[in-house]
Amino acid sequence: MTLHYDLHSHSIASDGTLSPVELVTAAHDAGVDVLALTDHDTLDGLLDAAHTSRLLGMQLVPGVEISVSWQSQTIHVLGLGVDPGCETLQSGLAGLREFRHWRAEEIGRRLARAGISGCYTGARALARGNIVGRTHFAQHLVAAGHARSVREVFKRFLVNNKPGYVSGQWTSLEAALEWIHSAGGIAVIAHPARYRMTSSKLRRLITEFRAGGGVGMEVVSGSHSRDNITAMASLCRNENMLASAGSDYHGPQNPWIKLGQLPALPPGCRPVWESERWPLQ
Ligand code: AMP
Ligand code: MN
Ligand code: MN
Ligand code: MN
Repeated sequence: MTLHYDLHSHSIASDGTLSPVELVTAAHDAGVDVLALTDHDTLDGLLDAAHTSRLLGMQLVPGVEISVSWQSQTIHVLGLGVDPGCETLQSGLAGLREFRHWRAEEIGRRLARAGISGCYTGARALARGNIVGRTHFAQHLVAAGHARSVREVFKRFLVNNKPGYVSGQWTSLEAALEWIHSAGGIAVIAHPARYRMTSSKLRRLITEFRAGGGVGMEVVSGSHSRDNITAMASLCRNENMLASAGSDYHGPQNPWIKLGQLPALPPGCRPVWESERWPLQ
């Protein structure tokens, strides 16, 4: 029997909208056999998700999506099969969340200076006690009538050179890889086609990533177009990387992304879950 994998998803513990219980249930309903919960810089949803997946008889891959600064760009690194009890990983992520907390307040101050007040309070309400990310600001600004879509808010307010943008230093690639490996996980570059890097820069990233022990890259992703998938598949084969596939699901508010409904990995790509490095057999 071929199993249905979805190795990238978010819950309310970061910027998704479903609780971990709702997320795992929705994945089960969608026919997913193996789901990775990979919230941004937190492991908070993993306990509830693991509990629900056991009840439903599906496999949960405990994961995380770590924010990394690399060559003045933000990139995302997935840790799959991490032990949530690992102190090194936990304290590394706690540092990132401290930065996120300060950044959220700073985004609120900057938007207020630009004439839009109350954003931090609004975003915090949407995060329901979890870390406040840019997505929560975007959702609040849409609800408050400042833009028509989350995408539009990012473009007008939350990216470089816009009033609510706060630059800052995440963790280094080397450190993120160390944390993941200390926790017994494997590291995968998230949505590599989204960084708009030249192919030589992307190859440099892969070289450094492998030097730190990273093994995989997402070839199929909810944020990759068909052309992106073809390009990433060929890079993955040429660089002898393992291939991963994940929807990057954030909740039903983005109806164009569905849990578990992913195109197959292109021929010649070695799936992460078939390698001897896969942490869950
Ligand atoms: P943060 O990690 O808080 O800086 O926010 C990054 C998150 O915002 C990503 O994981 C996406 O979920 C979301 N995001 C980033 N860019 C966009 C965009 N252009 N449109 C919609 N969502 C975006
Ligand atoms: Mn996100
Ligand atoms: Mn990401
Ligand atoms: Mn993601």
